[in-house]
Amino acid sequence: MTTKQGPWRITFDTNPDDCNLKCIMCEEHSIYSTCQKQRKDEKRPRRRMDIALIRKVLEESRGSPLREIIPSTMGEPLLYRDFEEILNLCQEYGVKLNLTTNGTFPKFGGAKWGEKIIPVASDVKISWNGATKKTSELIMIGSNFEQRLHQIKEFIKVRDRIQAEGGNFCRITFQLTFMEIGLEEIPDVIRLAASLGVNRVKGHHLWVFTEAMAKENLRRSQDAIHRWNAIALEAMQVAEEVRLPDGSKVVLENIYPLAPTALHELVPEGKCPFLGQEAWVSAEGRFNPCCAPNEERLKLGEFGNLYDTSIESVWNSPSYQNLQKNYLEHAVCRGCNMRKKTEELSHEESKATLAGV
Ligand code: SF4
Ligand code: SF4
Repeated sequence: MTTKQGPWRITFDTNPDDCNLKCIMCEEHSIYSTCQKQRKDEKRPRRRMDIALIRKVLEESRGSPLREIIPSTMGEPLLYRDFEEILNLCQEYGVKLNLTTNGTFPKFGGAKWGEKIIPVASDVKISWNGATKKTSELIMIGSNFEQRLHQIKEFIKVRDRIQAEGGNFCRITFQLTFMEIGLEEIPDVIRLAASLGVNRVKGHHLWVFTEAMAKENLRRSQDAIHRWNAIALEAMQVAEEVRLPDGSKVVLENIYPLAPTALHELVPEGKCPFLGQEAWVSAEGRFNPCCAPNEERLKLGEFGNLYDTSIESVWNSPSYQNLQKNYLEHAVCRGCNMRKKTEELSHEESKATLAGV
């Protein structure tokens, strides 16, 4: 029974400065980003969350709607020194883990990580940005296509075995950033997902953080939108035709044709899916209202530091309540890629998870 207000899901930015790849679209680690160089030049240490903060927030959230936690979606969470302690906390507090990983499965490999993660996870999103070795490695610089494919197969084998034994079901998702470079391969990514037993293909249009990436934006011109729309329709058709080994369909998320107005706003009538629903906590403890690039979300205001204040008091604070009502006054929210139509909203992820999709 819930007795408190609060988010149903919290993302903890555990280790945003640690990654073993340099994906081109990454605001922190891309070869086009200056963030990590600047950090080193300024002799700032890598940001790494104190595991005690996660425990504190979970303790404060007892009796709240909280059902899932996500370790860092910036940086590779499997490199976080206390990642295994997060798995223990999920067991202890009865919350599910929702993981986004780059599919390299560092330290232990796919099979061993599968044994540790699958029993407590609702969904594992694996960044997958191309159906061919060439495209995949051009986007996810530093990765090896065959090695990642092998690790994912090992991971899914463990998922299937645990499910067959009556254990926890964990959905597997391919997570894409929609860009010019990988556009043509999206239908084949869906075919690959089906053949591997990946349940869902999900993505987001690119946040352009530097001029060098502007040419990758599929919303930059009517011509680009037109080509995206043709691929989106083909992808939807492929998802109707192919099947996973268990006979189910690959679920698509955010893959649909765009209106010409997407040049300026992705879904002009769309609502923010996160305000009043989810929360983000930076490595330093800062409460953030969403996953927009850091520089952008800082413009949304100051809401408090969870080392000093409880998540419940931030959630109920006038400044956060005010943002929920007036977020479209912010330019970043008006141009935001994340806004969704009303019918796509309301705990879509958790509903899908509960339904075992
Ligand atoms: S794996 Fe994630 S954190 Fe690492 S470079 Fe790629 S997008 Fe950035
Ligand atoms: S930028 Fe604004 S609309 Fe977009 S996710 Fe953040 S709060 Fe929501």
